[in-house]
Amino acid sequence: MTETFDIAIVGAGITGCAIARQLARFDLSICVVEAANDIALGASKANGGLVHAGYDPTPGTVKAQVNARGCELYGTWAQELGFLFCRTGSMVLGFNDEDRAHLEQLRCNGLANGVPELSIVGPDRIHILEPRASANATCALWCPSTGFVDPFEVAIAALENAVANGVTFMRSAPVEAIEVAGSDDGATRFTLATPAGDVRCRYLINAAGNGAADISHMAGAEEFQMVWRQGNIVVLDKEPRTLMPLYPVPTPVSKGVIVTGTVHGNTVITATAAVREPGDTQTYASDVNALLTGARKLVPDLDTRRVVRAFAGGRPVIQGTNDFFIGQSAVVPGLFQAAGIQSPGVASAPAIAERMEQVLRNAGVTLRERADWDPIRLAPDDFDRAPLARKEELIESDPAWGQIVCRCETVPEAEIVTAIRRRPGAVSVEGVKRRCRAGMGRCQSGFCQSRVVAILARELDCDPSEVLLEDAGSWLVEGPLKGVR
Ligand SMILES: Cc1cc2nc3c(=O)[nH]c(=O)nc-3n(C[C@H](O)[C@H](O)[C@H](O)COP(=O)(O)OP(=O)(O)OC[C@H]3O[C@@H](n4cnc5c(N)ncnc54)[C@H](O)[C@@H]3O)c2cc1C
Repeated sequence: MTETFDIAIVGAGITGCAIARQLARFDLSICVVEAANDIALGASKANGGLVHAGYDPTPGTVKAQVNARGCELYGTWAQELGFLFCRTGSMVLGFNDEDRAHLEQLRCNGLANGVPELSIVGPDRIHILEPRASANATCALWCPSTGFVDPFEVAIAALENAVANGVTFMRSAPVEAIEVAGSDDGATRFTLATPAGDVRCRYLINAAGNGAADISHMAGAEEFQMVWRQGNIVVLDKEPRTLMPLYPVPTPVSKGVIVTGTVHGNTVITATAAVREPGDTQTYASDVNALLTGARKLVPDLDTRRVVRAFAGGRPVIQGTNDFFIGQSAVVPGLFQAAGIQSPGVASAPAIAERMEQVLRNAGVTLRERADWDPIRLAPDDFDRAPLARKEELIESDPAWGQIVCRCETVPEAEIVTAIRRRPGAVSVEGVKRRCRAGMGRCQSGFCQSRVVAILARELDCDPSEVLLEDAGSWLVEGPLKGVR
């Protein structure tokens, strides 16, 4: 079967989802084509969730422009899309005169990139801003605009809003070949071959993360190589008070080991940076040790026995450049690249989407705003955070709101059902976890996984043995589930 759209976006990571949301306001038919069976299964699922302010990238680069603007847009995006966003501010800690010179350099970069209200502060102010910051820090770059999000929540919220505005989401549809042909009106037309059916489109947006070089190659456009710049991350259990993001002075290739709170109250230590084999998501003991050591330098009282999870992801870097590649292909008109979105792709996503809109306009694509476009996405009820009165109301409306399935994160059955029934909904145990946190807590799903499997089987009308942990082939159960309703 072949479906035809004005625009196809390859990749449902945070970049593709943000672009889909941005373009959904126009009178265009749009399809997001994703290889995996869910949203945000590439780099967008394995990152620190930091909305870096933008003082780090070299002034004048695309990255510098979209990072600072993305950070600025996050407030509006969070309000409209109903996702959690904490703008706590951050500090880059310095321990000696050499570090202070680096901080000055970062401040100048930041000013050039349009980052607001940067200042260098001394020890007294450091400890007022973040009492747990190392007492050995003698100076810091204070940046009030830094924040953090749950990166899957952002991608899911953006795509839910896009889908509510008419965008089609095609999952389990890896693009395997692209045919490019001219049309009677002179415009290029693309046919994307996927196992889920072919997609024809007039304009193609390449937001395929680590697969972006393959998409560009298949379309006969720019040839480039992707480098898998792997990073390990460690998550610690929840703290009574959420930590402000604390950074070390950056290295030439990365921002170094950062300690930050999360929107859910955990602490995250992020991230190492090493070029590894494409697809390598192993965690390495050496990397984890480097994270713990780096973190203790910034927050000496960090109790690293409270680690609940370590994971890894690969930043989609284009070999030979440290910049993002956002623009129309110089080789194949009608193909638009959003490639090489390495760090800070989360922080930049709203601005990458805004920039893509401008790139399309400049290329002559007609963008007529729809009268019925709705920018608002209502977030599903989060039982754990809901005030008592709302909890009571929910349980009154459906007793399944009172059936707690995940004890660590206080997630009731009805919240899991909602995660599966929303559009696009969860189709796997991890998909449920990314949407409502069942299994995200300190027991890491030891107690609730079998119940989540049973709920998925019931909702998807399949046998528990067909329920997936994550993507195709990741079955969990061989026989009947014992003692699980
Ligand atoms: C360890 C680590 C820490 C990070 N920390 C931060 C941070 O704190 N803040 C920040 O701003 N950034 C951070 N980043 C960077 C950020 O995660 C990325 O920039 C961002 O997620 C890239 O999003 P994307 O949508 O471009 O790519 P992805 O999320 O990788 O999405 C690409 C999608 O394309 C799909 N795809 C690929 N090939 C095909 C195909 N042939 N057909 C169909 N679909 C295809 C993939 O399945 C995938 O879903 C970090 C990255 C890592 C690895």
